[in-house]
Amino acid sequence: MLVDYHWHTTRCGHASGTMQEYLNVARAKGLTEVGFADHIPMYWLKSNKIDPELAMSTTELPEYLAEVELLRRTNLDINIKLGLEVDFIPGHEATAKKILTALPLDYVLGSVHYLNDWGFDNPHLIHHYQEWDLLELYHCYFEQIRAAASSGLFDIIAHPDLIKKFGYRPQKEITEIYRQTARVFADSEVCVEINTAGLRVPAQEIYPSLAFLKLLHRYKVPVTTGSDAHKPEHVGQGFKEALQLLELAGYREITLFNKRQKSYCKI
Ligand SMILES: [Zn+2]
Ligand SMILES: [Zn+2]
Repeated sequence: MLVDYHWHTTRCGHASGTMQEYLNVARAKGLTEVGFADHIPMYWLKSNKIDPELAMSTTELPEYLAEVELLRRTNLDINIKLGLEVDFIPGHEATAKKILTALPLDYVLGSVHYLNDWGFDNPHLIHHYQEWDLLELYHCYFEQIRAAASSGLFDIIAHPDLIKKFGYRPQKEITEIYRQTARVFADSEVCVEINTAGLRVPAQEIYPSLAFLKLLHRYKVPVTTGSDAHKPEHVGQGFKEALQLLELAGYREITLFNKRQKSYCKI
């Protein structure tokens, strides 16, 4: 069994479909445990800097929680988890912690979408890749991902090699970067997300890559799965490929979350 723990909603401003439609697709595909993990309000910005096309607003957060609760009561055949996708922004850890501890979440996905102020996964800002030496960029990104894991804010590190999204990869071997990152993940006791959205973008590869996932397995880092659905058709997409990848890397079980507590389940 695989779970799909990474669904967005229209509240983030760049997703479509009703939440019930996501559940209908899950049911049709035979998924029995799923979770919404929409983008947290941009807690690190002043309100006049907030872009409504990137995340839900502060006032939408309680509505989001209430709708998940309602859907749980009307879709009793599917386990519906309550999650959030939370940006790791160095210097703003205390604010994130305060928001997260007050919410009845099953899990928190931690994401790095920004390096300094650059939203490197935003297709409108792709020209900035030209300004970087790619090996240096990868060092910078993975340093940030390790800091996210060490922060203790997150249960799951989402799309752990997102920096490859647009297909920019360094020529040089980066095994040591993966190894160092796997070690930090293991020490921080975080789980890693197998995110199939990488198949829908120029990277044409699940996050994380097989080479990275093999090292994560060697360091006994637990994993979970998600489609990063921004529309109902994305639900469960690429899960056949995810199963193959998990098997190749040696994984036999995935992690489930309830009220931020882990348990394990045979794949
Ligand atoms: Zn999104
Ligand atoms: Zn993300």
